[in-house]
Amino acid sequence: MQTLTFQNQKITPCKIVCVGRNYVEHIHELGNEIPDEPVYFIKPNSSIGSHLIAQEGLHYEGEMSFLIQNRKIAGVGFGLDLTRRDIQSRLKAKGLPWERAKAFKGAALFSEFVYIDDWSDLELRLYKNGELVQQGSVKQMIYKPDFLVEDIERIFGLDDGDIIMSGTPKGVGEVSAGDRFKGKIYQDGKQLVSVEFIANAADRNLLL
Ligand code: ZN
Repeated sequence: MQTLTFQNQKITPCKIVCVGRNYVEHIHELGNEIPDEPVYFIKPNSSIGSHLIAQEGLHYEGEMSFLIQNRKIAGVGFGLDLTRRDIQSRLKAKGLPWERAKAFKGAALFSEFVYIDDWSDLELRLYKNGELVQQGSVKQMIYKPDFLVEDIERIFGLDDGDIIMSGTPKGVGEVSAGDRFKGKIYQDGKQLVSVEFIANAADRNLLL
């Protein structure tokens, strides 16, 4: 099983529940409609990776990610919801499930997670090759973290160590070999978490 780090302890998430459309400007950027209920999809433990591998049609989505303990938010980390946008667009057009585009091996990358007791003033930033490409705060979310925890617990159930990826702000884009990504989470303007991912060229044998 794949593991994450929370306060220097190893955590084995059973699943990652992702929120599909939670920032208005990102919804417009992909030409989607504002949902009347949250859009959820799930990445399994096996989608957690440790390296960023560039491949055809791969998009980054930087996301504030929450670690659950006792059905409550215990920690926050920076997550990359990696998406094969070419495959997702094809599946969406046919009304088919998204797993091939969202739940493949290595489709979820995370920083370490750190303890928080208040999520109200969190902000995310993602830099690509030194340029700020994504920025979002809890205040901009359509569905706030406490609502998401309650709703997801009611529908899917939440186990200790599960992760909620709370959606991506506008500014998603392609991943190319050699790109350097820096993801950061701030609370009240103070940096809580910082992580760097460098995109490696895909080993042809591993291409999906
Ligand atoms: Zn996402």
